[in-house]
Amino acid sequence: MGLFEMESLLEPTSDPTWLLAKWGYDPVREEIYEARFATSNGFLGVRGGPAVGHGWRWIEPHRIYIAGLFDTTGPDHPIPRLLAAPGWLQVRIITTGEPLVHDLSEVTSPSATLDMRRGVLLTGGRLADHPTVAVRARTLRLVSLRERAIGLHVVNLEIEEGKIELTLEASFEGLGLGLVTERLEQDLGTWRTRYSGKRLAIAAASSLQIDGTDIAPAKPGPFAWSWHWKTRPGQTVRLVRLIAVARGDRHDADPGPVAAEKLGAAKRLGWNKVVQEHEAAWAERWQRSQIEIGGDPAAEQALRFAVYHLTSAANPADERVSIGARGLTGEDYNGHVFWDTEIYLLPFYTLTWPEAARALLMYRFWTIDGARAKAAAMGWRGAMYAWESADTGAETTPQEVVGPDGRIVEILCGKEEQHITADVAYAVWQYWEATRDEQFLLDAGAEILLETGRFWSSRAQPEPDGYCHIRGVIGPDEYHEQIDDNAFTNVMARWNIRRALDVAAMLRERWPDHWADFSSRLGLTDTELAQWRTVAQTMATGWSPQTGLFEQFAGFFGLEDIDLSAYEGRSVPMDVVLGRQRTQRTKVIKQADVVALLGLLPEEFPGDSAATNFRYYEPRCSHGSSLSCAMHALVAARLGYFEMALRYFQHAVAIDLADTHTAIAGGLHMAALGGTWLTAVFGFAGLSLRTDGLALDPKLPASWRSLGFGIEWRGRRLKIRIDAQDRLLQASLETGDAMALLVNGRRHELRPDQATVCLLG
Ligand code: BGC
Ligand code: BGC
Repeated sequence: MGLFEMESLLEPTSDPTWLLAKWGYDPVREEIYEARFATSNGFLGVRGGPAVGHGWRWIEPHRIYIAGLFDTTGPDHPIPRLLAAPGWLQVRIITTGEPLVHDLSEVTSPSATLDMRRGVLLTGGRLADHPTVAVRARTLRLVSLRERAIGLHVVNLEIEEGKIELTLEASFEGLGLGLVTERLEQDLGTWRTRYSGKRLAIAAASSLQIDGTDIAPAKPGPFAWSWHWKTRPGQTVRLVRLIAVARGDRHDADPGPVAAEKLGAAKRLGWNKVVQEHEAAWAERWQRSQIEIGGDPAAEQALRFAVYHLTSAANPADERVSIGARGLTGEDYNGHVFWDTEIYLLPFYTLTWPEAARALLMYRFWTIDGARAKAAAMGWRGAMYAWESADTGAETTPQEVVGPDGRIVEILCGKEEQHITADVAYAVWQYWEATRDEQFLLDAGAEILLETGRFWSSRAQPEPDGYCHIRGVIGPDEYHEQIDDNAFTNVMARWNIRRALDVAAMLRERWPDHWADFSSRLGLTDTELAQWRTVAQTMATGWSPQTGLFEQFAGFFGLEDIDLSAYEGRSVPMDVVLGRQRTQRTKVIKQADVVALLGLLPEEFPGDSAATNFRYYEPRCSHGSSLSCAMHALVAARLGYFEMALRYFQHAVAIDLADTHTAIAGGLHMAALGGTWLTAVFGFAGLSLRTDGLALDPKLPASWRSLGFGIEWRGRRLKIRIDAQDRLLQASLETGDAMALLVNGRRHELRPDQATVCLLG
């Protein structure tokens, strides 16, 4: 490769809006950057920490995560956690018996740049704290978006001064940490988890060139390579390291040959081609999910950051994994999957990357037996999804955790936070509406809808007042436990039952053979469907036609009102300020609950009641969860409360992007990232998915001159651009057949050959 090409690979994209950079080394903030600068491809996740050895000691092992690699901590511990696999990025540079860098603070002008356009992390710095040698170091790392098994690390050293003997060691860290080693060779290792029956293989290759000539390494041990040479000013030294990783889900399937084969293919391709293919895959993703904001560069960068990490988190090729609450960027919540994925992330994938959305929903299909078992164990029918899910679909919510005040807290969510089941159904239906993917519906979607509808029809019980009630749950607002008739849960459950009935009717009419199969396999009778209909018709919802308010749950309106404005500037959540018990007796809400219902099912709020409910609940919400602000932003935007919406949007963005927050050491808040995209597209652009087409009702905040984005709809690709200054909306169909577009309630025909421009009212 020519010098020029090498230079350009190690340099970030010239347009700074694609970059997140940090200069200097600040031990207090390093962990923030590890999560923020993570590189991931939905299979491999690598935290963005430094790779140069810290004197003789290593810094905390460099963590890499492999989607789906869960294990428990013992046979009696049912809670699986995502494992940190061996770190592969260690480098040490040694002069006569001494490390060249004793401490990272000795690196002059260290920098790290996340290049979101290319999907690479670049670092740079000068190692000059030595009397006789000065070295400029630059590195590049990526995990390939084209071939997800592959990771690449390039370290480029330019010797500026000094003629001395140097040794460079490249090694792995934490080999076998938490795993049982099966085989450990120079360049191939296989491990197994202790209890969960999974296997892992890593194959690796390293090479070093000095001024373009390969130097043979010494191989002091497995996954360790070392080179020794004499420096001279002007010399260029380049280390290239490739890894290939394979996960085995069964004890008897050896992933070793798969890893070796993938590594061989990457070596034959050549590392520069690995970079090129990876960048081409990113370019394609950006092309399909581009989002632009005129007039607010900070918001635009935040959305790019969100799209970067959302793209990094998914893997359309693996239907056995989903996305944990922190993606592959950290270990909080043990890598478990929550409703975050279906409600806050799926709309992004469904509308910009349906292949990824499909795989995520297939994960719920492949784990439906776990959901059936949970329903049965609790005495209900159908499928009841786990509040926290890992690899099998079994409930994995811990029964106790350490609370924010350091005390042990009993966790009831695994038993009581049941709305997750309707959330999964919601995402399935939304995917169906947006894609009309019949194969998915027939293979998986219909079964999920029918079995979740069945669950709710058994869960909601008729009582003497003539209504069906759902007692003893936790809604999205987890500050109130053991409550009855949570409006969010009940209305979503009713909606779920209705969609199950819709799918039954649709199958019967369009695919009678499939219906015959479903109804006999699942034992569905007309009598049961009639019972579902009755439950849906008589579901208690807490809705009052007089006030236009939903009561968040039975008895909520009787609780103590607390003026949250009196607690502004607090540094701990409200349940810590008031204590858990007291909080339960107040109207202080942890996160969007009725407001989340309004975000998901606006049609359930007739007339003014959308605004009435928002104005009632918004001041009572303490935003004790990272999911809350984005949902408030979305709803406020739809209601036309622009400035409030923008403020909530900025709060949501700050969770992972403000340097004042350290809560991201355990990983990025994927739901907040998904929520910022939702705010832009479903909030400010006012997108809604309708059976007969797409509708837009744009309301941009004053500082946003324009908003442009790409979406996919039933096999078509569209570009939308809203120009607030000229009050214009421009829509063009890049691929696919003509379709209807409703803008501010007016119907337009979108044709393949011409852009549609309409005046906004
Ligand atoms: C969360 C729950 C979760 C529990 C245990 C709490 O902090 O709010 O949703 O189930 O931790 O992981
Ligand atoms: C929130 C839940 C969320 C979980 C994981 C909790 O704090 O209350 O709604 O699913 O975190 O992000």
